[in-house]
Amino acid sequence: MKKHEQTSTTIYDLLVIGGGPSGMMCAGRAAELGARVLLLEKNPVLGKKLSITGGGRCNVTNAEFDVRAFLENFPESKEYLFSPFSKFSSKDTIAFFEHHGLPVKIEDRKRAFPKTESAPDVTRVMEHYVRAAGVTVKTNTAVASLKEDSHGTFLVTTKRGASYRAHAVAVATGGMAAPETGSTGDGFAFLRKLGHTIIRPNPNIVPLTTTSSWVHTLAGTTLPLVGIRFFQNGKIALRRKGKLLFTHFGISGPTVLNASFAVSKLLKQGAVEASLDLFPSDDDAALDAKLIALFEDNKNKVLKNTLSDLIPTALARAILSLPALALGEKKVHSITKEERRLLAHTLKHLTFLITGTLGFDKAVIADGGVELDEVDFKAMESRLHPGLYLLGDVLNINRPSGGFSLQLCWTTGFVAGTHIGKNR
Ligand SMILES: Cc1cc2nc3c(=O)[nH]c(=O)nc-3n(C[C@H](O)[C@H](O)[C@H](O)COP(=O)(O)OP(=O)(O)OC[C@H]3O[C@@H](n4cnc5c(N)ncnc54)[C@H](O)[C@@H]3O)c2cc1C
Repeated sequence: MKKHEQTSTTIYDLLVIGGGPSGMMCAGRAAELGARVLLLEKNPVLGKKLSITGGGRCNVTNAEFDVRAFLENFPESKEYLFSPFSKFSSKDTIAFFEHHGLPVKIEDRKRAFPKTESAPDVTRVMEHYVRAAGVTVKTNTAVASLKEDSHGTFLVTTKRGASYRAHAVAVATGGMAAPETGSTGDGFAFLRKLGHTIIRPNPNIVPLTTTSSWVHTLAGTTLPLVGIRFFQNGKIALRRKGKLLFTHFGISGPTVLNASFAVSKLLKQGAVEASLDLFPSDDDAALDAKLIALFEDNKNKVLKNTLSDLIPTALARAILSLPALALGEKKVHSITKEERRLLAHTLKHLTFLITGTLGFDKAVIADGGVELDEVDFKAMESRLHPGLYLLGDVLNINRPSGGFSLQLCWTTGFVAGTHIGKNR
């Protein structure tokens, strides 16, 4: 294979680097408005990450249709985002997919999914949108450099040595989360060279780890409603309530994932202890009453077989084996009042040390990215380089899970694509 490919003589209206959700939306939108668009993607396929989102079902947006209420989920960046989200909101996303033959359904917490429950279907719709609009798509094409020349055009060179010129370039290379999907931070290097400030990314929406082996033995156990408090230096630093999942490494589930950003910040300052309240709806007296009633009905049984009436069996066994309790093999009738109270206390204060996060590999998003003051959000255009557009995970925007990340991609891609398409 020849190493150097020729330089294209075409000057594109728009060259998009990265075929993820934000890049595809931008490319398709600009092309449907008549722009001549080239999309370069380093993977063999478009939307590799998009196709695994939402556990394979793709939480395509969040159906909170009040833009201000929606943006409450972007606490540090809502002022910047009001303009683009007023132009393309979650309502528009749902209309977009329904228009393209993919009906959407709304689940709890207003999370929206395609009715087919298939993330690859979302990728297929986006790829069809891009190709039908006439975008030239080159997969297996990794961009190596991005430069602005003196004529106000951009020169993009690929790793294989081919060069392309364009009046506008959209950097849609994603962040640093789940690098196996292609998001390895290449865009940050291009943008740094062009003078942009890149806030250092940290993994976010990521499971937490612990070295407490009893937690690891519970891998796969889910608790639908727990209270979880994170302590630092003996003081409560963070408090959450919701679903929790034990894993081989520690804890996960929506509540933990959405707290992970704050917990990672705490970990930078020192040790963090998690304390689970398995009965968040009961105070100490109510829980003690529950245990008394349970013991009354099961006097001659072994405690470990009885407690599983209240909590999952694996968890009951793990708790009763904790050195501080060691009650598992005891018969219920021989449990003293003090032991019962200690058990009740443990069920409401189940503590273990948090040692870290699973890192970028298992993160859904990473915070960090382009400093927001350097972006004109009316068009998603760089304030340093007119004609340069910044989309999706490239931006330093923190947000929770629930469809907010993909909506950020649809919005930024659509707004930039519209601006480029209309201002050629
Ligand atoms: C497991 C998982 C599940 C998720 N589930 C959800 C969910 O259900 N709902 C939700 O809202 N969000 C979800 N997210 C987050 C969401 O997927 C991302 O926010 C979104 O994909 C970001 O889109 P993007 O277009 O900015 O970048 P990406 O999707 O990261 O796409 C960037 C593309 O650029 C390409 N690229 C990078 N460098 C180069 C280069 N040098 N040359 C050419 N191409 C390049 C990459 O190969 C990649 O295809 C999930 C993330 C993960 C990891």
